[in-house]
Amino acid sequence: MTTEPIIHRFPLAHDGAFVNAYLVETSSSVVAIDSLLTVSESRTLRTAVEQLGKPLAAVLLTHSHPDHYGGLTELVADDDVPIIAPQGVIDTIVRDDPVKETILRPMFGEQWAFERRFPNTPIRDGDTVTIDEATFTVVDLGPSESPNDSPWILGADERTVFLGDQIYGRKHCYLADGFHEEWLANIELLRERFPSDAVFHIGHGGPAVPTDFVWQRTYIETFLDAVERADWSDPAHAHDAVVAAMKHFLPIDELQFLMELSIEPVASQLGLTAAV
Ligand SMILES: [Zn+2]
Repeated sequence: MTTEPIIHRFPLAHDGAFVNAYLVETSSSVVAIDSLLTVSESRTLRTAVEQLGKPLAAVLLTHSHPDHYGGLTELVADDDVPIIAPQGVIDTIVRDDPVKETILRPMFGEQWAFERRFPNTPIRDGDTVTIDEATFTVVDLGPSESPNDSPWILGADERTVFLGDQIYGRKHCYLADGFHEEWLANIELLRERFPSDAVFHIGHGGPAVPTDFVWQRTYIETFLDAVERADWSDPAHAHDAVVAAMKHFLPIDELQFLMELSIEPVASQLGLTAAV
């Protein structure tokens, strides 16, 4: 009898969740994909590992953003386990963590861990991690939604993918790191790669399917168009115009703050305003 790994998604209450992490339960171990952001949610993730009654064997990171690595401290606790990501993801996290501290401390207070754990085990593009019957293959995308992104494929048929934030589940998106051109190119690369019945376990919402790459591309292009069309002689008005355009495209509030954080950096990157 072959056993299939079981995928558990967290937080358990999916509706309104800010960010997802996953536990993959194999015959005798647990592998975590990302770690959530807050102390309390990542502590709950840790409790879930313990309730499964199997040791945490490894943590795999899908990219370099703090809503995916900030919970490592609670998740890993005293376990001596590999936290695996491409070297570029590790370097980005180490480089940017002090800046993230200045942004996230006022937003999250004590819910942003005072001591963060960083990934400790680099892996190269295309290499695999095998835990019991589960084999994970990393795709090192380089810059994309974040400065370095690294989806993980579970199994040889490439039908189960932990895609990170390459697709958002019909929520507003973060583009402030300035790699929208690379993100759009990666979307083309990824949508060619996976079978049409692939399931994407994503960072925000989901699960998603390959046709959702079209929505993601359209969101990014709509955002870029709105920033370019706005009248930047009045920056406050321009900001409001972009928000209005994006709320017209996607009339929900979820993760709107991430989209709003992206407006001025992208306007600056496009040369529409003085550098911010
Ligand atoms: Zn995220």
